[in-house]
Amino acid sequence: MERTLVLLKPDAVSTRICGKVIARFEEAGFTIIGCKMITLTPELLREHYAHIADKPFYPDVEAFMSSTPVIAMVLEADGIIATMRDMLGVTDCLQAAPGTIRAELGNKEPGKSKMYNVVHASDSPEAAQAEVRRFFVESELFAY
Ligand code: ADP
Repeated sequence: MERTLVLLKPDAVSTRICGKVIARFEEAGFTIIGCKMITLTPELLREHYAHIADKPFYPDVEAFMSSTPVIAMVLEADGIIATMRDMLGVTDCLQAAPGTIRAELGNKEPGKSKMYNVVHASDSPEAAQAEVRRFFVESELFAY
């Protein structure tokens, strides 16, 4: 069994589509083993997005990701890390394949860099392990 870390981003929370997104996860057969609402601090975001923290667009990402609380989840299934990334689609929702969450529910103005792409999910087993630990302690995860 594999675990992945998911964040339902502020665009999902503020437009009230979290239920729709979670329904897709449940329909895909993923098991929710952890779930909580949290506000992302600048410090936590800098750690989580260390790979983009020096990019010119990073201040926009930080402002967006802390604009409302997010829903953090740990989901479990065989092969979930890759399957989840496939379900999400690529980072830019305008480039995401039809049928993916980001293509159907994301928002971006053509030619502008700000993007509202609904969900974060870990992109590798190494990232998943680090990210689950970053957002959850073991007692917040449930085996059932
Ligand atoms: P992903 O979320 O698909 O794993 P990254 O880890 O590369 O993508 O980027 C993290 C987040 O930063 C993206 O989800 C998006 O919100 C934002 N982002 C990434 N690249 C850009 C960009 N070129 N312009 C604006 N925002 C970006």
